[in-house]
Amino acid sequence: MSSAGGGPRGSVRPERHVQTGRGGNGGSSSTRTKSAPPKRPSSSSAKSSVDSDNAADAIRVRVAVRLRPKNNEDFIEDGDFTSCVELQPEAKKLRLKKNNWSSELYKFDEVFTEGASQRRIYEAVAKPVVESVLEGYNGTVMAYGQTGTGKTYTMGRLGKDDPSERGIMVRALEDILASISSLTDFVAISYLQLYLESLQDLLAPDKINIPIVEDPKSGDVSLPGAAVVELRDIDHFNELLQFGEANRYAANTKLNTESSRSHAILVVHVQRSVKVKDENEGASVVSSTDDLLAASNHVPIVLKSKLLIVDLAGSERIDKSGSVEGPMLEEAKFINLSLTSLGKCINALAENSPYIPTRDSKLTRLLRDSFGGTARTSLIITIGPSARYYSETSSTILFGQRAMKIVNTVKLKEEVDYESLYKKLECQVDSLTSELERIQKIRQDEKAKIERKLRKQEESLAETKRTFTTKCENFEKENDCMTMEIKKLMEELNDERDQNKILSGRIVEMEMSLSQNKQQQLENSTYKKALSDSTQMYEDRIKALLEQVEKEQARCAYLELEMHGARQVVANNENSSKMQENSKVNELQKELRKLKEESRNEIQHLEAKNSELLSEKDLIYEELKSMQEKVMQEAKHRRSLEDEILKLKKALSENSAVQLERGTSMLRTTSGVGGGAIYLPRTGKSRDTIPNQKDTISKIFEEVGLSNILALLKSEDLDVQIHAVKVVANLAAEDINQERIVEEGGLDALLSLLETSENTTIHRVTAGALANLAMNGSNQGLIMNKGGARLLANVANKNDDPQTLRMVAGAIANLCGNEKLHVKLKEDGGIKALVGMVRSGHADVIAQIARGIANFAKCESRAISQGHRKGRSLLMDEGALKWMVTSPTTFSASTRRHIELAFCHLSQNEENTRDIITSGGIKELVRISQESTRDDIRILAKKALNSNPAFLREIQ
Ligand code: ADP
Ligand code: MN
Repeated sequence: MSSAGGGPRGSVRPERHVQTGRGGNGGSSSTRTKSAPPKRPSSSSAKSSVDSDNAADAIRVRVAVRLRPKNNEDFIEDGDFTSCVELQPEAKKLRLKKNNWSSELYKFDEVFTEGASQRRIYEAVAKPVVESVLEGYNGTVMAYGQTGTGKTYTMGRLGKDDPSERGIMVRALEDILASISSLTDFVAISYLQLYLESLQDLLAPDKINIPIVEDPKSGDVSLPGAAVVELRDIDHFNELLQFGEANRYAANTKLNTESSRSHAILVVHVQRSVKVKDENEGASVVSSTDDLLAASNHVPIVLKSKLLIVDLAGSERIDKSGSVEGPMLEEAKFINLSLTSLGKCINALAENSPYIPTRDSKLTRLLRDSFGGTARTSLIITIGPSARYYSETSSTILFGQRAMKIVNTVKLKEEVDYESLYKKLECQVDSLTSELERIQKIRQDEKAKIERKLRKQEESLAETKRTFTTKCENFEKENDCMTMEIKKLMEELNDERDQNKILSGRIVEMEMSLSQNKQQQLENSTYKKALSDSTQMYEDRIKALLEQVEKEQARCAYLELEMHGARQVVANNENSSKMQENSKVNELQKELRKLKEESRNEIQHLEAKNSELLSEKDLIYEELKSMQEKVMQEAKHRRSLEDEILKLKKALSENSAVQLERGTSMLRTTSGVGGGAIYLPRTGKSRDTIPNQKDTISKIFEEVGLSNILALLKSEDLDVQIHAVKVVANLAAEDINQERIVEEGGLDALLSLLETSENTTIHRVTAGALANLAMNGSNQGLIMNKGGARLLANVANKNDDPQTLRMVAGAIANLCGNEKLHVKLKEDGGIKALVGMVRSGHADVIAQIARGIANFAKCESRAISQGHRKGRSLLMDEGALKWMVTSPTTFSASTRRHIELAFCHLSQNEENTRDIITSGGIKELVRISQESTRDDIRILAKKALNSNPAFLREIQ
């Protein structure tokens, strides 16, 4: 259960106001007052005619009387005795019988017999008040009477078992809840008990002493400490009422009292939103806000009203109830305080007393608005039929009679709902502000446009004016000229006139002389004739002049007319310039339209082109993609092919390298040349792979057959030839194969290939094969006999490829290891070719050359020492010595050792002494004897130096 401050939300402010009747409270109240609801009977002065109503908003407290049916006690105590009251409901009168001979008649607003239904009671007593509350007025419904006469039955009955028994509280709330809008309106209740001058909250039972607060300005009474519960529906109200009843019962049990000793007060807060037309429409002073209000026509108004439903404590006198001792007396006094105060106030009000003791008790403070205040009030007094309670019944009736005299001044409490009004106005202000801004902008734009136009017009006007003034000036000038001319003509005319006068004078003179001289008449007549002739002539002339003057005047008039015309033209020009402008604008607009059309066409054209290009692009992209795929596939294919080729190449090159090395190692064993290592470069492949490759080769050899392989050497196809030579070269590395290759004609085939082929690869590989075959001593002879040395020398002289030269040098070097072949080798150009290959400068070639020379010199030296040979070395003529002496020390260690070894062997032969000395070899020999890294070579050098006296001499 929520609890809130007193009263419905919002605050009361506004207020124009009229107050009539008795201003019992509130003083200069600021509440807006409206005319009272339809039924407003009575006035304070109408004591007898209770139904009359004459003050616009004065309304009398209405009082009904209800008689309770006889109960069991009545039957037992009274027996068959008639009751002390006699009702005349149709006349709304009640007769109270004191005894059989004395009675009094009282008139009430309603008189209900014991059979009256709860519904009729509600409709007659409470409904008008409820309706009034819904219209925004405060209202009170109160029950007064002796305990047990049916106050609670009338007010608070829930009617759970029998709906027809529902009391005023339930029915009032049913009506209220049915009439309000749950969206905009608000109904809430507080439910309290007043006992011993203490206000307890029946909806929040822990609140036991709730203060009553009065607004000093408005006189409004509120209970800020009490729980205010907003109602959802009638079931919710029934629950709350039951809950309150239970609390009332519990509180009373705790205090050891009865509910009949306390007052129960139900406060119903009603707040309704209504839209009313503003009454001040058309008022003299209208602010802008009021204008807006008028525009919206309606002001949001909140109606706030309060309905009090009061079930009073029993009105019986304490002494009659018999409990007058101890604390009960205190209680009785207090109960009496509130009730007695109420009676006193009602008396004072009924008698129009100037002082109303409202403040004497809490009950009277709470009910301040109900009696003599602004509320519409209905009082129901309940009585029992029994004569035993005559005095109680009588006092109850008198209470009701006094209350009927009280007139309240009902007031409507409205407040402007400033919150929603503010929101609405803010909304309007916003929309108007933006509208204003829009209009201002449009106006500014238009103004600028007009100003621009005006400026243009002004310019054209100035131009026209300028041309006009020049025209005017011209006209004026012309006019001046004309006037001058006229003046001149006039002068001429005057001259003529003067002359005329003179002539006339002469004529007179002459006539006189004529008359005087009659004799000369004849002469005179001729003279006269001449005169008249000349007169005639002058007159003619004058006439002509006058005509001319007339003409000039006419011309003048014409010019004026023309001038006028020109002015008109100027005026017209102004008009036409405007028209021209308009037509120009039209033209420009047309042109603009045309341009737009053209650009639109162009855009369309471009868009079409663009889409075409896009589709073309897509096509090309597709093609590109497929091409890329193809390329990728081909690249893959190529890579796999390359891999294969690489594998094959590696296998081949390793095999040949292995064979070559094997060849040299064999050479070492067969020829026994030098103890030092003979260096042959080879690819940096691990030895582990060699057996595999050897296996492959021998497999090919076994499967294909040597004869078939050798046959391929003669193939027309160069590739086949190359491959065949490679296979043969590899096979030739194995000494088992060497003899067979030679036996099956391999050597012949290789030699003829070396002779006939122009291909460098063939040359290289064939030379390699021969080098391998030349490892074998018996093959060396065959190679020499078949002209191999010559062929190798040829290749060496023709080629510069270091690998080819390396192979050739290797082959010749092997042949150098056979002393029997030295002479032939020299004759066939082998030695010369070997030394000649020094030009290559390639370390591998140089190494083979050094090895060959070392082989040659060693074998030669051995043959000389064994006596097989004599004489100078065969190497001397070929420039080998010079190369050896001057050979750069940058050669590799093994190459240098070979050279040193060869030089030392040559130095042993005394036949070579002269050559060595002339070539400057002594110095080298000395150096070798001291610096050579090999002991045997150093010893050999020293031996040569020491054994040869010529050398010794040279050294000294
Ligand atoms: P009080 O308000 O004075 O305390 P109650 O409402 O408690 O009186 O009524 C006393 C008894 O009389 C209750 O049992 C009640 O049911 C009964 N009673 C009172 N008025 C009527 C009535 N009009 N019709 C039937 N029973 C009634
Ligand atoms: Mn009661």
